[in-house]
Amino acid sequence: MDFDGIYTDPTDEGEACSQYFSDKILSLGLKEINLETREKVESWFGELRARQAAQPFLYGWRSEGRVSAFTFEDPFIRNIGLADYLDHLVGKGDAKCKLLLKHLSKSEKILTFGELSEWSFHQLTLKKKIDSGAKNWVEQAMRDGHEVFIVSNSAKEKIEEFLNQNGFDHALRPKVYGGAKKFGLGKKPNQVVFADNEEDGQLKVDTDRPFYEQALLEIKPDAVIGDVFCLDLSLPIRLKREGKLAFKGGIFFRHRDYTPSKMVDLITGRGTKVPEVTLIREWSQIKLQ
Ligand SMILES: [Mg+2]
Repeated sequence: MDFDGIYTDPTDEGEACSQYFSDKILSLGLKEINLETREKVESWFGELRARQAAQPFLYGWRSEGRVSAFTFEDPFIRNIGLADYLDHLVGKGDAKCKLLLKHLSKSEKILTFGELSEWSFHQLTLKKKIDSGAKNWVEQAMRDGHEVFIVSNSAKEKIEEFLNQNGFDHALRPKVYGGAKKFGLGKKPNQVVFADNEEDGQLKVDTDRPFYEQALLEIKPDAVIGDVFCLDLSLPIRLKREGKLAFKGGIFFRHRDYTPSKMVDLITGRGTKVPEVTLIREWSQIKLQ
């Protein structure tokens, strides 16, 4: 199981990150590029996000210079993806973005928008919001004799703290594999085309994720559950196709309010090439044998 977005609803955390990001820009008071009020910063970002939405698979969370997860896949990656787009615009010589970055580096020693988004993430102090359905489901699965692992990019201590604070009993507690670097790509893209149709286009994802692959081959799970298709599910699907892991219990894509509808259409729609995936909106939809 993934952690953020599975055990929690990260919407508020993502919004808080985006607030830190814009507050830092706002604090520079840049009247000359029209960014001196909250309304102006927000409306500029709104415009950029709309432009990104027209090309949802071009920007996102990068690793080895390549996109590892797409911009709108979850509330955290939404911020990382906006920063990626801003850095792209700087590279293209966009005057407003360049000037903004110049001020950021001068007064804050922040050299890229990616760094600003990372800084914003580290400012987070919000308590994580539990998905109580997840807790009930996990406890029942363990009572039924299943072994449950959390494999997450988040630090192990953070997850353990969450489990303590939310009353996960020691006898019914998943094992935690933190810092899993599922976003970490290897040297060869090993791209898989997961969907292809005329109306919605092509969904192509890098699946060379050596850190995550190591975790999966070690744990050998019968089922996998994630909320971010690229990070959590693309590699398990490839491993299943290659016969390296059977995933007899299933590969589950947890649908949340933030799940991009385009992704859902691509995965469940007519052009899908991913019959292995089950989209779930409720925990009761996952039944293990
Ligand atoms: Mg997640």
